[in-house]
Amino acid sequence: MKNEILNKIKEYETIIIHRHIRPDGDCIGSQKALKEALILNFPNKKVYAVGDEIPDYLKEYGAIDEVDEHLYINALVIVLDTASKSRICNNNYEKAKFLIKIDHHDDSEDYANINYVDHESPACASILVRLFKEWNFKLNKEIATCLYLSITTDTGRFRYRGVNEEVLTNAGYLLNYGVDTDMLYTRLYIKKIEALKLQGYVFQHFKKTKNGVAYIYFTKELMDKFNVTKEDAANLVNCLDSIEGCLIWVAFIDQANSTQNIPSEIRVRLRSRFVAINEIATHYHGGGHLMAAGATIYSKKEMQKLLKELDNLLKKYKEDNPCVF
Ligand code: AMP
Repeated sequence: MKNEILNKIKEYETIIIHRHIRPDGDCIGSQKALKEALILNFPNKKVYAVGDEIPDYLKEYGAIDEVDEHLYINALVIVLDTASKSRICNNNYEKAKFLIKIDHHDDSEDYANINYVDHESPACASILVRLFKEWNFKLNKEIATCLYLSITTDTGRFRYRGVNEEVLTNAGYLLNYGVDTDMLYTRLYIKKIEALKLQGYVFQHFKKTKNGVAYIYFTKELMDKFNVTKEDAANLVNCLDSIEGCLIWVAFIDQANSTQNIPSEIRVRLRSRFVAINEIATHYHGGGHLMAAGATIYSKKEMQKLLKELDNLLKKYKEDNPCVF
């Protein structure tokens, strides 16, 4: 399949790379790395990166191009890091002449002509490094930095269980191109004062279900009060990641742009250690990885229902595994 992908890349003059909605580090860095690697290795091709606005903390590692619809008719589209069609950012991919998908999600659907999916890989970027090595691609510092950023973000700084020999070897391979890790981690860790103050609020005010699901609800009013964006608030999900006994933690983020009395969409970010939560996410228009999933709900009633499901799951897990942190 790796050769089939390379042959398709060689065959097409125009290549358009798509990513998922609500972009994270892995899809942003992978997309720019693939774009730049294709340009470096095939200077005569036209290569574009498509997607919504890039969050501030990732701006340095991303690319967005305006692509006219008519270009798709003879184009190869490569979709990165996107499990399902519904999460592909920008529907123009449907007009592509040929579609390739490269992904690592557990709940990946085969929606492309070639679907290269490795569920074992903890980052899409690590799959790209594998392909680049296999294809003997030239790389440079910029490409290596984007890939390193992707791997470091999707593995929780090389912490998660999926980290294996290949990932660490690939990360080392990238470092040889001169990645400035000081700068990279500074960009990832530096926080606006407003977000830091909201983090303080989260520590003081998060709630906990009976069996230990920690959660915080970022209402529009709360985000306005602290003068932070939805993205700033959403990024705080992991400040609930080390509470003893709380093996599941959740951030709910109001998506409404006004206080009008309309049914509000609430983004849900679910995280866990040891307990798989992605199945429950599928009950709420969501999905994702075993221990990092997302969903969407539309009311506080649904929020209570979701928390109840998670609480029951955690209760059962603790009964079966008495020695947990
Ligand atoms: P997030 O909390 O947005 O970082 O998402 C965590 C993981 O779950 C990512 O791998 C996403 O691709 C996936 N995910 C998030 N939201 C959804 C959704 N609504 N449907 C399916 N997968 C999702």
